[in-house]
Amino acid sequence: MKVFVFDAARCNGCCGCQIVCKDEHCGNDWMPYAKPQPMTGHFWCKVDQVVHGQAPVVKIEYTPRMCNHCDNAPCIAAAPDAVYKREDGLVIIDPEKAAGHAELVDACPYGAIYFNEELSLPQKCTGCAHLVDAGELPRCVDYCATGALRFGDEEDFADEIAQAEVLGDPALGPRVYYLNRPHLFLAGNVWDPDANENIEGAVVTLLDAEGAILSKQETDDFGDFNFKRIDAGGYRLRIEAEGFKTAEREVDLQESLYVGDFPLQR
Ligand code: SF4
Ligand code: SF4
Ligand code: SF4
Repeated sequence: MKVFVFDAARCNGCCGCQIVCKDEHCGNDWMPYAKPQPMTGHFWCKVDQVVHGQAPVVKIEYTPRMCNHCDNAPCIAAAPDAVYKREDGLVIIDPEKAAGHAELVDACPYGAIYFNEELSLPQKCTGCAHLVDAGELPRCVDYCATGALRFGDEEDFADEIAQAEVLGDPALGPRVYYLNRPHLFLAGNVWDPDANENIEGAVVTLLDAEGAILSKQETDDFGDFNFKRIDAGGYRLRIEAEGFKTAEREVDLQESLYVGDFPLQR
């Protein structure tokens, strides 16, 4: 069974996967898997961009999204005569049997299905089944120069899959796995207002809303700290440095946040 594995740590946001998907499918007929994709309006592969944080700490997250080739696919449930799963796991909308099935667009919880008005046909990523049949990689994977997007047999990716997450409801059995998604960060700076300089080596403790310690780190040469890959929720920050009074601040983290300066008093 085939899987896609995406590693956010390797992605540079070039959008090449999105572009070559269109190059592969716009104007090209890959029957029996796909009729041509229209030039506009469809994104069978779409690289989402989310800007995390505020100056001076900003990170852009890139996430390619395509059909997840779900094992328990709602699109198949919605039109079992027109959508099928291949033995290798790829989910295909039959371009002949699905004609007129506009309702399929709403059947996909990922928004991966688009309607081709000209052909009166729901369409989506085919996993480039025409290339896979020829022993080649999907076009988006073949293009990805950083190795962020990969495709292959599930057993060959077992280690990565064990550490990966899926988008949406895991019960759907999505077959696109995501590694190293950044989630949220909580960053700040610690300084000494009397000396007007940053405090290096201050101990910053991240606690949950109940006061349990989640993580600790020391401020760097510039007095900066940054807790990465954390989820939304209520947190408390505790800052300790020798010769200074301990400072604490509660944070309601709903998006990545640069909390600003922590002046420590002697
Ligand atoms: S997955 Fe690869 S091709 Fe796509 S945006 Fe990231 S680096 Fe570029
Ligand atoms: S992501 Fe959507 S279109 Fe793809 S298999 Fe799952 S339900 Fe079907
Ligand atoms: S596998 Fe093919 S159809 Fe699917 S997103 Fe990649 S290039 Fe597009």
